[in-house]
Amino acid sequence: MAAKRAPGDPRGGAPSDDHHEAQRLRIGVLAAQGDFEAHLHMLNSLGARAHEVRTAEQLAKLDGLVIPGGESTAIIKALERDGLEPAIREHHGSGRPIFGTCAGMIVCDRNHLGLLDVTTRRNAYGRQMQSFECELTVEGLGADPLRAIFIRAPAIESHGDSIEVLAARGDHPVVIREDGVLACAFHPELTDDSRLHALFMAIATRQRDERAQVDAHGSRRVGVGR
Ligand code: GLN
Repeated sequence: MAAKRAPGDPRGGAPSDDHHEAQRLRIGVLAAQGDFEAHLHMLNSLGARAHEVRTAEQLAKLDGLVIPGGESTAIIKALERDGLEPAIREHHGSGRPIFGTCAGMIVCDRNHLGLLDVTTRRNAYGRQMQSFECELTVEGLGADPLRAIFIRAPAIESHGDSIEVLAARGDHPVVIREDGVLACAFHPELTDDSRLHALFMAIATRQRDERAQVDAHGSRRVGVGR
């Protein structure tokens, strides 16, 4: 039996190890600004090969991208400054998933990258409720509630029919999905419950399999580099 490896250990070795290594999802976490380290840690603990993304080159051919919480204005400025917007569009257009959390959800909305058919309102909970925690039942994550930490969180004010609402708090959806784009209004990386990241990795695995099938049948080339 192969020895158990610590997550993130790049050690090669026996053929089965190489196979295992090739199967690991390559997930990038946008590290322009904000809370990216806890995401890296969580993704690695689930068996992904997660790394920081600051340039378009680092974004190429990833199996998934996380856009973390932070300050949406700073993240958007950094995307423009570093020429990352076309790279994110290419990532999305080639059938690769994105997980936007808190400010990352704002970045994906109609008024910014336009990858989610939602309108968000920044800092929607006012001064009294800058930060709070609650328990959410999230569709697809089982009966156990998920503890959600909201920090100066945005609210989804309106959304199109293509948006699947996986969890809501009152009238406001707080976990949503539109095809390969998953988003939540809170910080899922700050608890030890990794189920949303696991869901994202399941989406990434499925999309990777779909791209491989398309490639194998040669009907359409996907993920073409520039
Ligand atoms: N208030 C931040 C914004 O508007 C989002 C906060 C967060 O990501 N925790 O960008």
